[in-house]
Amino acid sequence: SKTPVGFIGLGNMGTPMAKNLLKNGYPVIATDVFPESCKELQDLNALVVDSPAEVAKKADRIITMLPSSPDVLKVYTGPNGILKNVKKGTLLIDSSTIDPAVSRQMAVAAEKMGAVFMDAPVTGGVGAASLARLTFMVGGLEEEYNAAQELLTCMGANVVYCGQVGTGQAAKICNNMLLAIGMIGTAETMNLGIRLGLDPKLLAKILNMSSGRCWSSDTYNPVPGVMEGVPSANNYQGGFGTTLMAKDLGLAQNTATDTKTSIPLSSLAHQIYRVMCSRGYANKDFSSVFQFLREEEGQ
Ligand code: NAD
Repeated sequence: SKTPVGFIGLGNMGTPMAKNLLKNGYPVIATDVFPESCKELQDLNALVVDSPAEVAKKADRIITMLPSSPDVLKVYTGPNGILKNVKKGTLLIDSSTIDPAVSRQMAVAAEKMGAVFMDAPVTGGVGAASLARLTFMVGGLEEEYNAAQELLTCMGANVVYCGQVGTGQAAKICNNMLLAIGMIGTAETMNLGIRLGLDPKLLAKILNMSSGRCWSSDTYNPVPGVMEGVPSANNYQGGFGTTLMAKDLGLAQNTATDTKTSIPLSSLAHQIYRVMCSRGYANKDFSSVFQFLREEEGQ
């Protein structure tokens, strides 16, 4: 039978990902700072423990799915962190989207304890997480890749090896800056069309058979009533929080500054999502930029 897999961070993404490990026959040992987040997994017979250090005592493969760099630092190197109790040879896979410099730092800290750290951030929303259709971008030692792939294929349709530790994050940051810009573009386009008298469903249909088509228009349309099963159909609840998108654009800014790269549209997108965070949209899905633009017009 399969040995247990540790899972830390049972939020919008972590919960469905851990469920897919259970579905594939891996016992799961899980924890989250908010005990309520563990309820769903517990009901499916996952073992819920109190801290990352407890997970590390019991599992020699651990996946983390946390909001941001400070959370990852805390969960790995904090007083009750993984590295306090990590067993030699443990494989640590971080699927959070964080600063690649922090991934490299965690890899060094893990190596000192005889463990292996890989970054494996994901693309695909909560829907893809539930259906095990995520894409994983993996950075780390190539000889460890097969071991990581065994677990990641239970949760994703595509697993791509990118290179040394941190390169998974680099790929993820590039994807999300394009997504961030595309969503704002889709929202403002749909809004203009509506103001010009077009039915939003018809406009979406036309865009999706034309050169304006993108993921935000055909899979995750931001306009309520255009699609079912997306956050815009559910008052922008669940999905990918605006705070998280603003965080990812902050990562893009940092890496662009480090490499003296100009990213003018990403900079503007970053500011738009940050303004949204201060105007009550922080915990709504980022496609609520459509609603934000409407409110800006006083509608
Ligand atoms: P989330 O906020 O819903 O979940 C994060 C979970 O981590 C929460 O349950 C939180 O309680 C827990 N947590 C925070 N600090 C902790 C700690 N110290 N110890 C234990 N648990 C802790 O976030 P999410 O939407 O699941 O996203 C997770 C990561 O995946 C983020 O980095 C995000 O950018 C990335 N991501 C999200 C999506 C999406 O569509 N939601 C898609 C791709 C990537």
